Amino acid sequence: MYDFVVIKYSEIGTKGKNRRIFENKLMNNIVLQLDHNVSAKKIYGRIIITPKENKKIDSTMLNNLKRVFGIKSISPALKVEKNYEDIKNKIFFLLKEKNIATGTFKIDARRTDKTFPIRSFDLNKNLGEDVLNEFPNLKVDVHNPDYLIKVEIRQELSFVYFENIECYAGYPVGAGGKASIMLSGGIDSPVAAWLMMKRGMKMNAISFYSPPSNNEKTIMKLIELSKKLSEYYPFKFYHYIVPFTNVQMAIKKLNVESYSLILQRRSMLRIASKIAKHSNSSALITGENLGQVASQTLENMITISDATDMLILRPLVGYEKLEIVKRSQEIGTYDISIWPYKDSCVAFLPKTPATKSFPDKMRKYEEKIENLSNLEYEAIKNSLVYIIKNGEVIENYSFLEKEVLNLD
Ligand code: ATP
Ligand code: MG
Repeated sequence: MYDFVVIKYSEIGTKGKNRRIFENKLMNNIVLQLDHNVSAKKIYGRIIITPKENKKIDSTMLNNLKRVFGIKSISPALKVEKNYEDIKNKIFFLLKEKNIATGTFKIDARRTDKTFPIRSFDLNKNLGEDVLNEFPNLKVDVHNPDYLIKVEIRQELSFVYFENIECYAGYPVGAGGKASIMLSGGIDSPVAAWLMMKRGMKMNAISFYSPPSNNEKTIMKLIELSKKLSEYYPFKFYHYIVPFTNVQMAIKKLNVESYSLILQRRSMLRIASKIAKHSNSSALITGENLGQVASQTLENMITISDATDMLILRPLVGYEKLEIVKRSQEIGTYDISIWPYKDSCVAFLPKTPATKSFPDKMRKYEEKIENLSNLEYEAIKNSLVYIIKNGEVIENYSFLEKEVLNLD
């Protein structure tokens, strides 16, 4: 029934050129995320989304729009002719279609096209009276109406709507650089990814697993997580899945159980930094959170970070666990994260991980591992790559088949 969707976007606080870049990115992302089923155009601080022929504005389309970062709210709208009768009829039509017969309303008309002969004030008054006559059980409430019926009379286009569906706001993906998320199968890292995407970051994902234990299910879980993330992402989402068993075995042989977790994390970071550089990411993102587990004390974070000179973003560092869980439920990753399959084999996890550590000491341990950097390169070369778009895997291959790692 609707003709188009009116989009309001976040205040970006800039004018001129930057604003245009923001708007163009947002329009482009909307079209990509909706699989080219719509066209987008700009009119005065709004974006108007029109469905392509034989597509319609339904709840699926609205839900897809809600996941486009940079959008503040969406309002499905009806086009009106620039005459009073049509405006009135379209309002009646909307109210009837939506089965609205009781409650309170307010008409809020805005006329930026001054060639339209009726002033906003009179439109509000006359339309209000006509609605009251046609719907005797509706009442006017100008302060806190149940239904705020908006009428916009603009040069290019005029329309009516009364829904204003709040979205996530943020920035359009692509406005904020590119980073790689270290994606485990847990609850936290998918939320960390989502938050940075919402700030406009382009992204790919890197995960470590321990073949052959629980292989297929672990990979399936990781891919399900990135499929979910890809629903918020307008571009192809690359996911690198790195076999980590050989590195883990080499670390285990050192026989320093309490430090093995930290040594593994350092190695993960070195590998992830290489893949990040290879794929033009300029930072890493983790789901780390201060104090949640032994690996996440401040001291250990410092020791782990020492393994790379790449910037590490930790968007969840100050979050409460409950806030993270709530967010993961809202964005749809929680139900996947709680699947039982572990990302990494428990056999390699220490029973009592050290809560304190020192970079120098870890470097000494690492020097004792023969060929550590070779093992790390091999891990990258043996990784699997999945390309995901709008919730579907569109391609997958082994790293060596298609990619050439630039060795620094
Ligand atoms: P999560 O819920 O994201 O697993 P966590 O609270 O379990 O986090 P840790 O297991 O200490 O915390 O991991 C901290 C961070 O290190 C993760 O959020 C993730 O970014 C990264 N990480 C840990 N394990 C892996 C893995 N197997 N593959 C990729 N990244 C990992
Ligand atoms: Mg974890």
